[in-house]
Amino acid sequence: MILFEMKHIKKSFGALDVLRDISLEVDKGEVLSIIGPSGSGKSTLLRCATGLETPDAGEIVKNGEVGLVFQNFNLFPHFSVLKNIIDAPMRVQKRKKEEVLVQARELLKKMGLEGKEDAYPYQLSGGQQQRVSIARALCMNPDILFFDEPTSALDPELTGEILKVIKALAAEHITMVIVTHEMTFARDISDRIIFMDDGVIAVEGTPEQVFASEHARMKEFLGKFH
Ligand code: ADP
Ligand code: MG
Repeated sequence: MILFEMKHIKKSFGALDVLRDISLEVDKGEVLSIIGPSGSGKSTLLRCATGLETPDAGEIVKNGEVGLVFQNFNLFPHFSVLKNIIDAPMRVQKRKKEEVLVQARELLKKMGLEGKEDAYPYQLSGGQQQRVSIARALCMNPDILFFDEPTSALDPELTGEILKVIKALAAEHITMVIVTHEMTFARDISDRIIFMDDGVIAVEGTPEQVFASEHARMKEFLGKFH
């Protein structure tokens, strides 16, 4: 079952063609990773996918709710942890406070953040902030969750903490699209990997296929991680 589809998506900023004819499908339960050099259009792709940007051409088909976890957490600094999580489900989804609170507290427990519900983002480590941000996204009950470099603002120790959380979500068969520079992680967790280069999907396949690819730009990119 296809949960999400992009058909011939194009996006330019002025004279800069950032997405040049992107087509992709995401199946229910699938983990898709997107890798590629800085500036290749990965964030723009996710922002179009989640409705934060409007494509100039092409079509997006969503069978359900989509969520996004940002590189820099994007928590509301003046909201407590709990309010960060319950705000959108109540305001946007018009759900009852009691019900959302129950779910939010379950998610905080799952993210190892018990006792932090009254804390403010500045009182938390980066890893804890990112776990709040993941709980916030999950509280919307998304059918598909997009991550934009969820660990790139974190030091290596906190990176491992977040990768573990994402692996646990994959084990629950949550459908995810993950932009990442963590190559070992991408290889381990993904059903499929896309290599983006200059606004196009240059290589696509299973982790084995992609990492064995002879594509020149892909090899050059991977070489930077050795
Ligand atoms: P990536 O996430 O792969 O690093 P981005 O999608 O963030 O790439 O950016 C791709 C290109 O588009 C970059 O050259 C970037 O500067 C440009 N870009 C992204 N967003 C905007 C914007 N809102 N206005 C102008 N240029 C943008
Ligand atoms: Mg980016």
